[in-house]
Amino acid sequence: MNTSSRFPLSRREFIRGTGLVAATLAVSGSTARAARGPAAPLPPLSSKKLGIALLGLGSYATGQLAPALQRTQNCYLAGAITGDPEGKGKQLAAQYGFPEKNIYSYDTMAAIKDNPDIDIIYVVTPNSLHLANTLAAAKAGKHVSCEKPMALTVAECDQMIAACKAANVQLSIGYRNNFDPYFQEMMRIARWKELGALKTLNGEFTGGNTAGAWRTKMAFAGGGPIMDLGIYVIHASVLAANGESPVAVTAKPGPVTMPDIYKDVEETMEFTLEFANGAKCDGYTSYTRVPKPGGGGTNRFRVDYEKGFLNFPAAFNYNGTNAITAKGPLDFGIARNDGNYQQARQMDDFARCVRDKVPTSVPGEMGRQDMRIIEAIYASAKVGGKRTLVKMA
Ligand code: NDP
Repeated sequence: MNTSSRFPLSRREFIRGTGLVAATLAVSGSTARAARGPAAPLPPLSSKKLGIALLGLGSYATGQLAPALQRTQNCYLAGAITGDPEGKGKQLAAQYGFPEKNIYSYDTMAAIKDNPDIDIIYVVTPNSLHLANTLAAAKAGKHVSCEKPMALTVAECDQMIAACKAANVQLSIGYRNNFDPYFQEMMRIARWKELGALKTLNGEFTGGNTAGAWRTKMAFAGGGPIMDLGIYVIHASVLAANGESPVAVTAKPGPVTMPDIYKDVEETMEFTLEFANGAKCDGYTSYTRVPKPGGGGTNRFRVDYEKGFLNFPAAFNYNGTNAITAKGPLDFGIARNDGNYQQARQMDDFARCVRDKVPTSVPGEMGRQDMRIIEAIYASAKVGGKRTLVKMA
């Protein structure tokens, strides 16, 4: 599949991927229409709930994904693969009520192929392990959900896509925003060009880190905040451009203010994505810009089209987002802090795709597309700290 310029979604795939929001909301920016909320999902072809095993019981798996799996319809938490089966594994099993026979270590996980309780393995490890974990899951004949960033390089993405194809299993990437009704509204607007041409975009995602964390080590993270946080701005831009990749990229690393921590990966990155019609996205990501005392970072995204805009003041929060248009705030009846609804919708959608044998709307190719942009960003930024134009077309 050629992902160099546009991520192709058929109308059917798009509508399914957006949970039918597209089909039910006639005109964008309308608070009244938006207030009706997303329509019911497509009726399932079967009601079987699929079993998901979380691979890597760290912060995101235990803090967001396991709780989200308590509110899913098409899947449930059925097992775990962990470096600590006796401790973390048994604790998760006891907390969420799955049998201890469904706990594996990385060394024993090949045996999962004979376990009919597990249909999907969800890879939630440091970025450098996504490749090996995905290959192992595919080899065990299980469908794979893999966290972002998909891998460290485009070449690794290619291996993952090929392995899943060869094993005849689906591969999806953990782009939870794609399942948020507010982002789906943006995707719908972009798809049908409802607000005219794309004009400008800008976004920012910043956060903090501690010395020694794997996210500060190139071998584990593959890069700094671009891999971890900036990828959200990149991905949102591609969605706002209806799946198109930028045709050119410029980027520049920011100053290093904490040299003890950021010896290996960049601390800050500024980047600009240029789209074929001349639209530009200015992005900023950093591990240091933490304005709230003792608090988290910033995250926001805004897209301006010819005839209107969508502004996400808290675009990438774990617990959901909201969006403001020229006509006022959108309201899909989901409270921003309605615990992990994005992840629940994301996993439900993938389970339905696997069960009903239809392709996921967030496949490996989508993760690869973002990785291509990230590689261009690093290529641009590495030349003497100056912005060098890297053409992607
Ligand atoms: P954590 O460090 O909290 O957890 C990673 C887990 O991976 C560990 O707890 C460990 O689990 C397992 N692991 C296996 N090998 C290693 C190793 N050598 N070093 C460290 N951990 C190892 O990371 P996060 O949960 O924050 O992030 C995991 C992935 O999820 C990343 O790719 C990240 O980008 C992504 N993520 C996505 C988010 C989203 O919103 N979509 C949000 C946060 C993270 P065990 O002990 O069970 O083996």
